[in-house]
Amino acid sequence: MSRVYNFSAGPAVLPVEVLKEAQEEMLDYRGCGMSVMEMSHRSSMFQEIIDEAEADLRDLLHIPDNYKVLFLQGGGALQFSAVPMNLMKNGVADYIVTGQWAKKAYEEGKKYGKAVKIASSEDETFTYIPDCSDLPIDDDADYVYICQNNTIYGTVYHELPNTKGKILVADVSSCFLSEPMDVEKYGVIWGGVQKNIGPAGVQIVIIREDLIRDDLPEYVPTLMKYKTQADKGSMYNTPPCYGIYICGKVFKWIKNLGGLEAMKKRNEEKAAILYDFLDNSKLFKGTVRKEDRSLMNVPFVTGDKELDAKFVAEAKAAGLENLKGHRTVGGMRASIYNAMPKEGVIALVEFMKKFEAENTK
Ligand SMILES: *Cc1c(COP(=O)(O)O)cnc(C)c1O
Repeated sequence: MSRVYNFSAGPAVLPVEVLKEAQEEMLDYRGCGMSVMEMSHRSSMFQEIIDEAEADLRDLLHIPDNYKVLFLQGGGALQFSAVPMNLMKNGVADYIVTGQWAKKAYEEGKKYGKAVKIASSEDETFTYIPDCSDLPIDDDADYVYICQNNTIYGTVYHELPNTKGKILVADVSSCFLSEPMDVEKYGVIWGGVQKNIGPAGVQIVIIREDLIRDDLPEYVPTLMKYKTQADKGSMYNTPPCYGIYICGKVFKWIKNLGGLEAMKKRNEEKAAILYDFLDNSKLFKGTVRKEDRSLMNVPFVTGDKELDAKFVAEAKAAGLENLKGHRTVGGMRASIYNAMPKEGVIALVEFMKKFEAENTK
C-alpha cells in the first residue's frame, strides 16, 4: 500500500489511524454484525455514535450549555441560505467579503433581505483581511457574517471583527478544530467537515439557543429551520450517519493528541516550515499579506505560469498531490490541515528546494 501526501483543499486528507479503525469496523461494528452504513439511524447503536460525537465536540471546543450542536446536510452552500433564512429578523445583515465563499454567502443573503457588504478585500484579489476594528455596522443588523479562514486565498482572521454588539456568524469550514475558539464570541459557528474533520456530506452548526426561532416565515423549508433540527437532535430525517461516525472518530483522534491547544501548536509548526521556506526562496513566493496568513491553506506562485504547471506535474510524480491552486488565483496551494503530518510538509519543502535548484540559473 502506498499513500501520497495529499494537499487537497477538500475533500482532504484524513488521519490514517481513523481510516484504519473505520476499516476494521467496516463489516461488523462492535459485534452488531453490520457496518455503520447499514444500521438504522433510530437504533441505540447509532444514537450512541451521534451522542458521543457531540459530547466530544463539546469537550474539544468547550461549547457552553446554551449552544446547540446540529449535524446537517446540504453542504456549505446550503448554509449560505440557511443563515439568512433563520437569522434575518429585521431583514438586515452585514457581510465582510474576504473571498469567494464569503461572497457567495453575501449574494445568497441578498435574496432574503438587505445584505450589506460592509468591507471587502476584493480590490487586491482577497490577499488580505480588511481592518475590522471600526466598521459601519448597521444599527438594525441581525448579524455580521464572516468566512473565518479563506480556503481559496489562504487568509485568516487572527482577530475577530468588532461587531459592536451584533451577533457574529462565522463559516469556519476550513479552520474548524485547527485551534481553540471562544465559542461565546459567536452567535453561530458553522462548517462543512470535508476540509478539516471528515468526509463530505456533513455540516456542523453550533448555534446559541436564543437565536433558534419558531416564528419563521411560512416559506422556510421545514428541513432548513434550525428549530426543526434542534428539536429533533439532528434527526428530523435520516442524518448523514456514516459521515457523523467518521467525524466522531476524528474528534477522538484530536483529543488523544492533546486537544485543540496541541493541534494549534502542531499546525503552527507545520505552517512555519513552509512559510519560512517561502520567505527565503528565490523562486517561490507566498501570495498573502504576512499578518493574515492561514495555518491551513498556503497559496504560492513562481510568477511564471508554465513553471507553476511544471511544478504541479513533477510534484505529483513525486507523490505530492493536489497542489494546483484554485482557478481564480492560479499557481499552487498547499492545504495542510490537521491530518497532514509534519513529514508531508517537510517532503514538500524538500521537493521545492530541489525544484528551485533545478529551475533557477
Ligand atoms: C468548501 C467551502 C465551502 C463550500 O462547501 P460546499 O460543501 O462545497 O458547499 C464554504 N465555505 C468554505 C470556507 C469552504 O472552504
